[in-house]
Amino acid sequence: MNTGRFAPSPSADLHIGNLRTAVLAWLFARSTQRRFVMRVEDLDDRTFADIAARQLKDLAAIGVTWDGPVEWQSAHAQRYDAVVADLNARGLLYECFCSRRDIAQAPRAPHAPQGAYPGTCRDLTDADRQRRREETGRPPALRLRTDEITYTVEDVLHGRYTGIVDDFVVRRGDGVAAYNLAVVVDDAAQGIDQVVRGDDLLPSAPRQAYLARLLGYPEPTYAHVPLVLNEDGARLAKRDGAVTLAEIGVEPALAQIAGSLGWPTATDLESLLEVFDPVRLPRHPWIYRPK
Ligand code: GLU
Repeated sequence: MNTGRFAPSPSADLHIGNLRTAVLAWLFARSTQRRFVMRVEDLDDRTFADIAARQLKDLAAIGVTWDGPVEWQSAHAQRYDAVVADLNARGLLYECFCSRRDIAQAPRAPHAPQGAYPGTCRDLTDADRQRRREETGRPPALRLRTDEITYTVEDVLHGRYTGIVDDFVVRRGDGVAAYNLAVVVDDAAQGIDQVVRGDDLLPSAPRQAYLARLLGYPEPTYAHVPLVLNEDGARLAKRDGAVTLAEIGVEPALAQIAGSLGWPTATDLESLLEVFDPVRLPRHPWIYRPK
């Protein structure tokens, strides 16, 4: 069945901007008769179970409902390993020994896109790899051998968007699935055909759609929604003051979110759902002024 989702990383409490993105994901899904699922993206070392519990509690408190049990990425290592093994068997992966610093300092072709992996480890010989393993003393990450430089996705709010597809990491050096792989594999496993999330992730969508195609998965519909910024135009953060649900309160937070979406009179998500129209969504960031 067609399904939408919200996929928080439990590294910090959700702020009003994250809650607004969750509300939008819910509105997009429910207004199109989709199921809506919740996925906790807890593969990173800097994520915590107590924060996840608070995030889920806050989402429920503002009226976000989801179908079925919450999925935890940390429970799906086998799912990711199977896909990594499949890609490897197809000759599509290679070991990468580069640190962030190596990548930043690597020589680049004059027109290489900014932020793209420069290909340092792409064509190492067995002897090179052995030497790099000894030099670095740490296990390598696995990168995808891609054959395209860019890929185009369709986004409900941004239209056609073309972004970089470089040889991105699919498994980190510590053996854990990388974000781009886990998202794609889980979206397919959960039947997700509508991805609504903050537009800071728009540049990741081409890589993810490329990988989905490689794995024979259907490509989801994307809607990357504007972020919430502080008065200085920077991403909203804890230091901006009262930004979490505990600090703002449920009713004022709902009123702020509804107002930011252009329906200031809505007081709960069900009444927002009655008037929700993606075409009328503001396309610019919401500037939030903590009280
Ligand atoms: N877990 C990611 C985040 O909180 C979102 C991933 C996604 O929606 O694809 O930024």
